[in-house]
Amino acid sequence: MLEGKVALVTGAGRGIGRSIALTLAAKGALVIVNYNGSLEKAKETAGLIGEAGGKAEVYGCNVADFAACGEMIKALILKHGHIDILVNNAGITRDNLLMKMSEEDFDRVLSVNLKGCFNTMKHLSRQLLKQRSGKIINISSVTGIMGNAGQANYCASKAGIIGLTKSAARELGSRGINVNAVAPGFIETEMTGVLPESIKETMKERILLGRTGSAKEVADVVAFLASDEASYITGQVISVDGGMAV
Ligand code: NAP
Repeated sequence: MLEGKVALVTGAGRGIGRSIALTLAAKGALVIVNYNGSLEKAKETAGLIGEAGGKAEVYGCNVADFAACGEMIKALILKHGHIDILVNNAGITRDNLLMKMSEEDFDRVLSVNLKGCFNTMKHLSRQLLKQRSGKIINISSVTGIMGNAGQANYCASKAGIIGLTKSAARELGSRGINVNAVAPGFIETEMTGVLPESIKETMKERILLGRTGSAKEVADVVAFLASDEASYITGQVISVDGGMAV
């Protein structure tokens, strides 16, 4: 289904990003497993893809670094000739109540989560316009839609991703480029693993399906949006949250 496609997945060493990388590779794409700090984890993802008969490469780059993103995209285009799918998955949290949140924690979360998406999209857009095709999928969050106490920086970044996605969809649509966002709810990963049990229980009470989601359930929706089956979908925010934001 994705044979011959090159997919760049940011933050693909673990969690949702790893599952997205595995799923896209299983559908035939050559996956670039991007990482920032976790080279070993990224190699593990690429190894799992190889074991399953897929194709993967690892590429280290801090998505918050504008110039480094430019170099990464340039190097990948030089090597492969094209990039067809960009999944902006890399993300961090630095939670605190607004009153106690440092400027540094606000800036850091915005620069990785939101500016990171801008950095890769900006550097890739010229190539996608030339190709007259491409799929960009940005990972937002249910909290970007609903807000969340203690996560003003994170929610602002994830809401920002929605505006960025819709604007890019408007700019790139006439050239056959689809830009969408996926808004996961409460997914079991290292990111949510650190939350106190009481918060986890309160969050679960809001989920209509009564359970947390898996990384694979997010990855399957991303893979659909990356496929030709989703060719008439753009500028959308698809919630994968078990009904949390209803
Ligand atoms: P995770 O397990 O903490 O993984 C985060 C990934 O992002 C890691 O692979 C990490 O790689 C990468 N990353 C962080 N900073 C980076 C940077 N500056 N440059 C490149 N990569 C960077 O988180 P997750 O739960 O899988 O979340 C993945 C995405 O889904 C995030 O955008 C998150 O906000 C979003 N999301 C998650 C949930 C959830 O419930 N888990 C819900 C809604 C949305 P390194 O270790 O190499 O830095």
